Amino acid sequence: MSYRLPMHQRLANALSYNEFRLFYQPVVDLRTDKIVGVEALCRWPQRDETFAPPETFITQAETSGFIVQLGDWVLRTALDQVRAWQAQFATDLTVAVNLSGRQFLHYNLVKSIEDALRASQVHPRTIEFEITESVAMHNAEDSIGIMRQIKGLGMELALDDFGTGYSSLAYLKRFPIDKLKIDKAFVRDIPDDGNDLAIVSAIIAMAHALGLKVQAEGVETAAQAEFLAECGCEYAQGYLFGRALPADDLAALLTAQSEQPA
Ligand code: C2E
Ligand code: MG
Ligand code: MG
Repeated sequence: MSYRLPMHQRLANALSYNEFRLFYQPVVDLRTDKIVGVEALCRWPQRDETFAPPETFITQAETSGFIVQLGDWVLRTALDQVRAWQAQFATDLTVAVNLSGRQFLHYNLVKSIEDALRASQVHPRTIEFEITESVAMHNAEDSIGIMRQIKGLGMELALDDFGTGYSSLAYLKRFPIDKLKIDKAFVRDIPDDGNDLAIVSAIIAMAHALGLKVQAEGVETAAQAEFLAECGCEYAQGYLFGRALPADDLAALLTAQSEQPA
């Protein structure tokens, strides 16, 4: 029975039976209120029709090393999907793909990205890789080398969950990144919590001073979006704009947007 199988085997079976799904959360440009990108988020449907929590199965995939295969599937699926949307909607829609620690430090990462890029034929600018602050800081010198190679392929890099890991500002200025993603923990209580207001506006000002773009995560209310836009935060994602959705549902949002007057 499957629940007796080791987790690595269960995950491998799930991949070979094509059980994983990729959902897409809209990323909105706060200056225009338009969807300009998506973040690809992996889902694993269970027999009881719930989804396994990503925090759990991604961690298990990470521990068992299976994340390397799963991550390759995520990247290839995301690129195929976004290429189709770019053609259908005549947009430069971008896709953000998360890289976990083990994927990021895997010796074959850069080659597998190059192969996926070649297979999909999308422009490298289409892709943004998200690395958490903790992963980037864990082995900062090696991280800088890998980031440079990814940047050398023409892709963008974002630091995910910013503010929750061990931020070394000395490294932050050396990382060849394009964007900071403010963790939802700081967004949740704005505009009521004065400390969070101060932290968020300071992160945005610092990012801009370093020449980085900023994206807020976990934006759930219009008041949060308004405050972020006033501080000059360029991008946002969160339930206010849309949850992570199956490809067809995300396409419906893009269709609605393409039918709006410019
Ligand atoms: P993350 O990359 O920081 O993704 C953002 C998480 O915030 C997602 O959780 C998303 O569904 C959730 N979220 C989005 N908007 C809101 C909001 O307005 N309010 C709240 N409370 N939450 C919001 P999800 O999908 O459960 O993913 C959790 C984490 O699992 C991700 O965090 C990412 O670290 C990891 N993950 C998911 N898919 C992948 C993948 O394909 N590869 C890798 N390496 N990691 C993944
Ligand atoms: Mg992310
Ligand atoms: Mg995040």
